[in-house]
Amino acid sequence: MNTNPNNALSKFSSLPQFVDFKAEDVKPAITYLVKQAEESIEYVLKKDERDWSNSVEPIMIAVDRLKRAWGQAGHLNSVVSSEKLRAAYNDLVPEVSEFYSKLSQNKKIFQRFKDVAANSHLMGVQREKYLKNELRDYELSGVGLNESEQKIYQDLAKKLASLSAQFSDNVLDAPDDYTLNIQDSEKITGLSVALLEDAKARAVLDGKEGWSFTLKAPCWVPFMESCSNRDFRQEMYRAYVTRASDCGKPEYDNSQTILQILVARREKAKLLGFESFAHLSFATKMAEKPQEALDLLKQLSQSARARAEAEVTMLKTYALDKLGIEELMPWDVSFVAQRIKEERYSFKDEDLRQHFPLSKVIFGLFELLNRLYSISVSEEPAETWDPSVKLFSVNNQEGELIGYFYADLFARDGKRPGAWMDDAIGRWKTDQHVQLPVAYLVCNFPSPSGHSGDAFLSHSEVETLFHECGHVMHHLMTQIDEIGISGINGVEWDAVELPSQFMENFCWDWDIVSKISIDTSGEGHIPKPLFEKMVEAKNFMSGIQTLRQVEFAEFDLRIHLSEAPNDIGQVLKTLNSIRQEISVIDVPQYNRFPHSFSHIFAGGYAAGYYSYKWAEVLSADAFSMTEDGGMSLSDIGSMFLNEVIGKGGLRSSLKNFVKFRGREPKIDALLQHTGLTEI
Ligand SMILES: [Zn+2]
Repeated sequence: MNTNPNNALSKFSSLPQFVDFKAEDVKPAITYLVKQAEESIEYVLKKDERDWSNSVEPIMIAVDRLKRAWGQAGHLNSVVSSEKLRAAYNDLVPEVSEFYSKLSQNKKIFQRFKDVAANSHLMGVQREKYLKNELRDYELSGVGLNESEQKIYQDLAKKLASLSAQFSDNVLDAPDDYTLNIQDSEKITGLSVALLEDAKARAVLDGKEGWSFTLKAPCWVPFMESCSNRDFRQEMYRAYVTRASDCGKPEYDNSQTILQILVARREKAKLLGFESFAHLSFATKMAEKPQEALDLLKQLSQSARARAEAEVTMLKTYALDKLGIEELMPWDVSFVAQRIKEERYSFKDEDLRQHFPLSKVIFGLFELLNRLYSISVSEEPAETWDPSVKLFSVNNQEGELIGYFYADLFARDGKRPGAWMDDAIGRWKTDQHVQLPVAYLVCNFPSPSGHSGDAFLSHSEVETLFHECGHVMHHLMTQIDEIGISGINGVEWDAVELPSQFMENFCWDWDIVSKISIDTSGEGHIPKPLFEKMVEAKNFMSGIQTLRQVEFAEFDLRIHLSEAPNDIGQVLKTLNSIRQEISVIDVPQYNRFPHSFSHIFAGGYAAGYYSYKWAEVLSADAFSMTEDGGMSLSDIGSMFLNEVIGKGGLRSSLKNFVKFRGREPKIDALLQHTGLTEI
């Protein structure tokens, strides 16, 4: 008997249950749901009828429940990780992965789906598209392989899931082990009061004197930009770029993890008849083949080269003339760049923080969403996984509830760094029920401090919030009823960043910025002249930044296009040869960038990191509609909603774009927005 343990993960309602959640719930809930899904498969195979409601829907229901519960466990493991929860989660990774592999290799289910698909035109375009995607995904999961090959495939999939989890754990754990403790106050100059306060608190926490600096982004980034002591910068840089590598503790070293991942991916691709893992990855992308992405990267590096070289010359000259630095090193770059920026534009990035109180940023952001999509966003009472997390509901103009999202905005121990959106529940409307979409919006901003009780964001954190909110909108504002292609489901990976990057552009629009900021007295808005300086400074260093992104993307494509490496030295050699070709700043030999490149080794960006740039071409071009004049924001918003974000995975992203923009995408707007058309 398969009995429901009735715990926080296995009881389903319109919102996930967090209040009673315990790490001990994961195993019984997931085991029960996997078993239930297996029973649904048996049920389908016993039925004579081969139609949607007898062959497809029962599996969709069971898989959706498993996905929701497993997603919730994974989410909690990312935001409130504990040893117990992580162990419980990691223990189940192979079992869940095996279930999915077996399902997607089930020849009988595949045949049923094919039979249903043969008449799918009778069921409407949404189901037709869903089945088309499913059949493709079954093929890509090895349904066509023979029994022994399928077994190899399953083992590879299981292995890859565990390796990714291990990679990510190492990246998370290794920096927790490191702090730079400084006891002599005279040696630390240049740092902001807020940063020093945090470092003091951290030292107290560790039972130390003085100030302790960590490798977490809210500390590391401003430290590298403002610490005048070159030796400390070098020490922090070294610790940061060697994290989770052979230069640190062996238990966190990702060298073998990387090798095993690359070998397993290559093997998987070969098994399916693909030339390389990159080719397999492109089977579901908007770009048709790796060469298309490589072409874009080439075009970008050519466009950015002259500007990047001029930027390096400027950095070197300033470093020598004003700071006495004879040879510019990577740990000097942010620091020197900040000094030039301050001199040239008379402000520091950190100074902008006082102008962006989170409460006002959120208020203005929601107002913008209202203008774009005619929706209202309201806070709802809810019990979540941390007292700082808030739940918001989204309603349309008619007052109908569209969905919910949780906002978990502040950095804390045990939380994965970075910012992301994840879907908790997907929209699904059938004759019997409507399941409303729910999303998680996660950031790592500094916690509220000072008398106001408000958090203050840097401008780039404001951009991050707008970005993730764009993903939330994509997920919630879907007009699609079939869950397999609603929201972000079924959207090509390299087009998924279009709605999020589209939102970032508004952070440079005075109309919006004036509504999300305050002046130094806490009233009004950021002074207009300061904003104008920010715009002038926006593309400062854009040449170097573009080349960095191209370097990462090219590295990702090349290692996934070539034979699997024999040792980690080969991986580093590939990166070095790309750096020689593309980079304008030399890095030291000890740099171990791949060891913490979680996007491609632990996230879904393998042979897909180029997607950021690919989608930037789309988002810059889409946003240029607002610059052309002639159309109101609400008209553009409603077109974007109806032709792009509302459409989920129903149509190809290229088709969505053409419908919205009236033509195919062009790179011009991106080059212009990032200043690459000028030197
Ligand atoms: Zn994104």
